Amino acid sequence: WIMRHSRENTIYLEKSDMTYIIPKYQIIIESDLTFNILVYNWLVPKNNKLHETFGSSFKNVTLSVLVNALEKILICEGVSYQTDVILSHTVSQIYTVNSNSDPIKSKTFLRPKECLILDSTEKCAVCIKKEASHSQYLKRKSERLTEPAKLQAPISSTSSARLKLTMQGYRIENTELKIEIETLRRKLEHELQTKSIQCDGIENSDIVSIMSRADPSRVSPFMKLFWEEKQKYLQTSSKSVRYHPMIIRYCLSLAVKSSSAYEDLRYNEKDGTGVLILPSQRRLRDYRNYIKPQRGFNKGIIQELKTKMKHFSDPERYVVLLLDEMKVQENLVWDKHTGELIGYVDLGDPAVNYATLQKVDNIATHVLVFMLRGIINPIKFSFANFATTGATSCQLFPLLWKAVSICESNDIRVLAVTCDGASSNRKLFDMHFKLQADDAASNNVDVIYRTPNPFSKESIRMYLYFFCRSSTSD
Ligand SMILES: [Zn+2]
Repeated sequence: WIMRHSRENTIYLEKSDMTYIIPKYQIIIESDLTFNILVYNWLVPKNNKLHETFGSSFKNVTLSVLVNALEKILICEGVSYQTDVILSHTVSQIYTVNSNSDPIKSKTFLRPKECLILDSTEKCAVCIKKEASHSQYLKRKSERLTEPAKLQAPISSTSSARLKLTMQGYRIENTELKIEIETLRRKLEHELQTKSIQCDGIENSDIVSIMSRADPSRVSPFMKLFWEEKQKYLQTSSKSVRYHPMIIRYCLSLAVKSSSAYEDLRYNEKDGTGVLILPSQRRLRDYRNYIKPQRGFNKGIIQELKTKMKHFSDPERYVVLLLDEMKVQENLVWDKHTGELIGYVDLGDPAVNYATLQKVDNIATHVLVFMLRGIINPIKFSFANFATTGATSCQLFPLLWKAVSICESNDIRVLAVTCDGASSNRKLFDMHFKLQADDAASNNVDVIYRTPNPFSKESIRMYLYFFCRSSTSD
């Protein structure tokens, strides 16, 4: 044993075993007589038996007793595995030169942080415990490797061996299921062919009751109407079905978008395709052509407007006339119902056509639409349409006044005309210069913004006001 002073008031007692450079035992004694023991520079923990027996102060024990006990206790050899919680306790050996020696000589013990280092057995109690739990962990891991991963196991952290096993399992299962599906499908087909029966009223009322049990908050009014109507149609023969106007309207809009999709959806009695009982396209055509679309002012449309406004009060009969011209695709179409070619410029009235068109066989590029909008009543009504090549003011003038005269003669009072700021529209307004100049109430105004309405049946003088929408904004 060697004793040396180091730092102030600290004594080191050391004993080397001549194998390692650092001392085998070190006892560090502080000035207050407390001591710590190091074994190959590993601090002996306070829960070690040595400390538990002798405490950690020389007030309770003599040095000789401690040294005797110390030299009798075995040094723990550590654990045999390495993980990230295991510390490497490396001790440099005293170098002895020979022919095939390594550049460095040392011994490494693997110890958990809690190793007691000194104990009555070759492995301390802590190391024995750690070793046992580790070997159990290894055993469990190896067992797990041989069984397939669970369905929800994260793929990134599952070993490839287990994934392989899982995949093999699923493949087998998949093949088995496929075979099973095929057998069931054949069985079902067979059963359908041999034992199927026609649905009758009982099954039908089942459907009705299933539909009526649906959560009403999740059913929109149209959905409800649709199902109620469907139930009705199912109960009556397809010849005598009376379709609800809403359903007709829906079918019309559907069939116009895609007649083949409509045909797929519609239940066809002949070949049994389709899922819904809907009117045939032949029948829809009758509804669509209820009013035959025509260029110019159309008696049928005027009649419909009259019917719509029949119950309107006096103030509700004031309307604004909207003129709008839209570009259309130039094309000629043959109407198979009338044998007419549609697509030429047509202002509806042969007299107007003759008076205002240089050539009668020009193909139309625009459609001019006259629309009525109520001032109080929210009515919107497409009043007339014309095929044009971009109407000029000379063409617009007779059409505008004809529209006003038709309205006024049907007790519909036109208060204003609106249109976009195209030059033909501005010129149309300017054409009323003479009418305005003759009118005493507005003859010294240099902007033409209104004109007396000669068709008005009211006792006071009524004006037709002109509004022009800026052509840049819609
Ligand atoms: Zn140990």
